[in-house]
Amino acid sequence: KTRGSTGTTIRARSARLFSRAQHIFPGGVTRTTVEKDPVPIYVAAGEGCRVVDVDGNRLLDLNNNFTTLIHGHAFAPVAEAVAKALRTGTCFANPTEHEIALAELLIGRIPAMEQVRFVNSGTEAVMFALKAARAFTGRTRIARFEGAYHGAYDWAEAGQNGTIRAENSGRRLARPGYRGAPLSVARNVLVLDFNDIGSLERDLVPHASEVAAILIDPMPSRAGLLRPMPDFIDALTNIAHEHGILLVADEVLNLRQGYHGASPLYGLAPDIITAGKIIGGGFPIGAVGGSAEIMAVFDDDGAPPRVPQGGTFSANPVSMIAGKIAMEMMTPEMFAELDRLGERLRNRLTRAVQKRDAPFSICGAASLFRIHPKWTTPQRYCSTRMDAKETECMRAMSRSFLKEGILLPFGAAACLSTPMTEADVDEIADVFDAFLEGYSR
Ligand code: PLP
Repeated sequence: KTRGSTGTTIRARSARLFSRAQHIFPGGVTRTTVEKDPVPIYVAAGEGCRVVDVDGNRLLDLNNNFTTLIHGHAFAPVAEAVAKALRTGTCFANPTEHEIALAELLIGRIPAMEQVRFVNSGTEAVMFALKAARAFTGRTRIARFEGAYHGAYDWAEAGQNGTIRAENSGRRLARPGYRGAPLSVARNVLVLDFNDIGSLERDLVPHASEVAAILIDPMPSRAGLLRPMPDFIDALTNIAHEHGILLVADEVLNLRQGYHGASPLYGLAPDIITAGKIIGGGFPIGAVGGSAEIMAVFDDDGAPPRVPQGGTFSANPVSMIAGKIAMEMMTPEMFAELDRLGERLRNRLTRAVQKRDAPFSICGAASLFRIHPKWTTPQRYCSTRMDAKETECMRAMSRSFLKEGILLPFGAAACLSTPMTEADVDEIADVFDAFLEGYSR
């Protein structure tokens, strides 16, 4: 670590880059999700489970590009295969064998995926999943859970931040994702509470015959990494089946929970599933899959209904090759080892909380975890909301991790990667324990 005379880590180069970026990017960054506290940490390189910033600090990365890099940074098998692929062309209007190979691999593992289409991002995967559900059912409305993040499609953004009262009718509408977003969308998005059967009965059942899809992330990360309750999943499934609503599992993030993805772990049997992040081996990707009957909506030669789906870079061979190699190396043994490390970490974090009798709780599963500034582990999104003091406390926590050379994402899921060891996991727990010690004093 490079430390200044005051004991703080030097970020002079990051600060200089940020001041240059201020003039050319709105807010100085190209992604809203970049953390600036007070400046973004500009990365020069990634190596395994660490990134090296432009000031030479080596940081243990618990973000892994928003949970994408299950094998860590610059994973050699992927880097070598991609370097070779670059010499034979990076994108074609024609199909390649590589897309078939990755599709076969995904279909072999993910129970809900009989057929698949590739796109370039999770946002697009969710967009096409919802379009497919509409085309298949002939219905327009979508139901989703408050707080869950599903990317930037208008229909997936509406209602993420709850509901508003319509000015004229006083009816509850999904809060649009941004000012000026179409109210026609907001009117057609039902906002439900995760893990709340009462909300399904109140907010979904009365409109069920108009709903094409229920969009559900099996363990919504932005909403708090909430563990789905079995009776809630049962009730949701029953309502969906009874009313002919398609279940769309958004596993863009949670596919990393296991060899077969997350849905089977929680008793969810979706009709349509979206994937992204880990399946591209570090390159842009998204995938939407489902039964052959539903996926027929994307078949140009088939009978209507049809959903046009193209994409200039969809199924580009670089993402396909990288994804295939990365996925092949995600063996059942690899998932078991990440589960073990994740369990060890969550247990050690929980023990630290108990030892200090501090107002924190730990949640997550497999390689994912999240720390809440709450006495009990939240089961509902409403109990994850932080007041100003809790928000400041979580910011202080991220800062104290950073001081010790650990990148802990703020307000999002943190995750492990395969290059991490027990020593790394124990270090994370020790840094948390030291933070708690300072906090409780
Ligand atoms: N769905 C979920 C559950 C996600 O976590 C994300 C991204 O974090 C998305 C969709 C959007 O994916 P992308 O950022 O690739 O567009």
